[in-house]
Amino acid sequence: MSLSLHDVTLTYPDGDARLTALDRVSLDVPSGSITAVVGPSGSGKSSLLAVAATLITPDEGSVTVDGTDLTGLSRGQLTDLRRATVGIVFQQPNLLPSLTAAEQLQVMAHLDGRRPRTARRQALDLLDAVGLADHAGRRPHQLSGGQRQRVNVARALMNHPTVLVVDEPTSALDHERGAAVLDLIVRLTHQQATATVLVTHDRTHLTAVDQVAELQDGRLRLPRHDESARA
Ligand code: ADP
Ligand code: MG
Repeated sequence: MSLSLHDVTLTYPDGDARLTALDRVSLDVPSGSITAVVGPSGSGKSSLLAVAATLITPDEGSVTVDGTDLTGLSRGQLTDLRRATVGIVFQQPNLLPSLTAAEQLQVMAHLDGRRPRTARRQALDLLDAVGLADHAGRRPHQLSGGQRQRVNVARALMNHPTVLVVDEPTSALDHERGAAVLDLIVRLTHQQATATVLVTHDRTHLTAVDQVAELQDGRLRLPRHDESARA
């Protein structure tokens, strides 16, 4: 199991009290599978992703990433682990305007001291995998919204993550392009054997995922398997 959350509770300060964003959430995501997390605004979806991405340490419960229990790791250890094992795709691509598509990816490898030539080859391979082999030299303003989101996905895979977390990747795209980005994430999850958690509010995209988890006021509901297959 590449990603496991067990009885995770996360609260935020809220005036004099605490707001419970995640309430005893447990979730297992095997390698090479994709779990979609759905739920209304404010139900805790982004909080769940932040915990899965090791960006936030929960108040209670345990998170295991790639066999390592994160409980008790220092900030520095968490940063190292995140860099080596977690890929993150945020809603907005946040590409650097002055860099080409290939360079957006190469920057990631620079952080861990990979050789430029190796990084370049990996970047071109990944751009090929997301259908942008011919666009490696283009800058963000020369790409469509859907293409920018593909670069964003490819960039998250540069460190060969075991865990891939994706927050509403289709929200800025029309239905057809959104469906194509979703297909791409499903295919890459299988190819790269990542444990993928994907937040979306668009249920029409969910036919290809392995598991659908529903959040409501911080509580996670996992439908029975037969229900999940129909979702
Ligand atoms: P979603 O992504 O489903 O919209 P969030 O995880 O962003 O939900 O938020 C869950 C709850 O936690 C909401 O009530 C939100 O207002 C609250 N919340 C989120 N982030 C913070 C924060 N940094 N500080 C205080 N409250 C927060
Ligand atoms: Mg959110």
